[in-house]
Amino acid sequence: MNAPVPKPWIMDIAPYIPGKSRTDDGRKAVKLSSNENPLGTSPAARAAFAAAAGNLERYPDASAVELREALASKYDLDPARIIYGNGSDEVLHLAAGAFAGPGDEIIYVNYGFSVYPIATRRVGAVPVVAPDSDYATDVDAILACVTEKTKVVFIANPNNPTGTYATREEIARLHAGLRSDILLVLDHAYAEYIEGEIDDGGWDLAKSAPNVLVTRTFSKLYGLAAERIGWGYASAEIIEAMHRIRLPFSITIAGTAAAIAALNDTDFVEHTRTHNAAWRRWFNDEIAKLGNAGLRAVPSQANFVLVLFEGELTAEAAYKGLMDAGYIVRWLPGQGLPHGLRITIGTEDETKAVVAILQRLIADAR
Ligand code: PMP
Repeated sequence: MNAPVPKPWIMDIAPYIPGKSRTDDGRKAVKLSSNENPLGTSPAARAAFAAAAGNLERYPDASAVELREALASKYDLDPARIIYGNGSDEVLHLAAGAFAGPGDEIIYVNYGFSVYPIATRRVGAVPVVAPDSDYATDVDAILACVTEKTKVVFIANPNNPTGTYATREEIARLHAGLRSDILLVLDHAYAEYIEGEIDDGGWDLAKSAPNVLVTRTFSKLYGLAAERIGWGYASAEIIEAMHRIRLPFSITIAGTAAAIAALNDTDFVEHTRTHNAAWRRWFNDEIAKLGNAGLRAVPSQANFVLVLFEGELTAEAAYKGLMDAGYIVRWLPGQGLPHGLRITIGTEDETKAVVAILQRLIADAR
């Protein structure tokens, strides 16, 4: 008897590998591998979640009116042009699904977010990987990859796993260099962590251009990774196409209530941003002091830092040493980074502990 045959492009997908929350030998550990908020969740969001959690028997509002209105008023957007999904992961999948198919090409950067290849292959499109420039997004390299088959370009800004940031000028140049029938997805999962008032111009482009989708998430700054709420903003035509393939009820009642409360808890948001900026700076400075041991931090505007190991202590040994000490970070050999660890900025104690463990491992490796 013949069994169902998966599509060949599905079998080409390397499955997503989530960050571990236990050590390989099963111990509970400090998880600095998924860029979650080390300060937890806004107390207001927790309370809103608890208050809404009893609503179990009814479907959620399929059109997410309250969430869209809250987002629209916060960011000065048209609520009709907001899409939402089960994490921004779903929104990224919707973008690929609505605008690309078998034989089309989707471009993303080397060391790009690992969901892009999955979303690309899932629809039978061909991944085109643009080379980086010392780990940062290289606009000219992306533009050089464009062909008549290009349908979508995915850019995370700041980028994951490198943390690098493409300026407003670079994003404008990228957009200006793309045909208007190519969808430019600006993935802002970490945009709130950018220091100062830096803005890559994504909102202006999404508001005015016919081909730009900005995506955002509640999983990082807002501390709601468990609730899986992401969203996006683009022209009415783009949003309408994506809605056609959206799962009808992919965000929950309690998660939505928590997200709206989190959005309005500006104290928690500011506390998280300030904490991250301060400890990211401290962590960078400490890694710089370990430069003579071959460690180098890629400049980051996100809530994590990619540390490169180019001396005697290898990234693999550091990964194992940190895990033995109860700290899980992300080693990314599958993403072409066998020499790098992506480390989420944790609490003060956690961040200091990671540096102390690295110092010890360097001494041991000598
Ligand atoms: N984009 C980027 C660049 C990310 O790093 C992540 C989280 N790993 C996401 C999108 C998706 O986040 P979520 O689905 O939790 O919104």
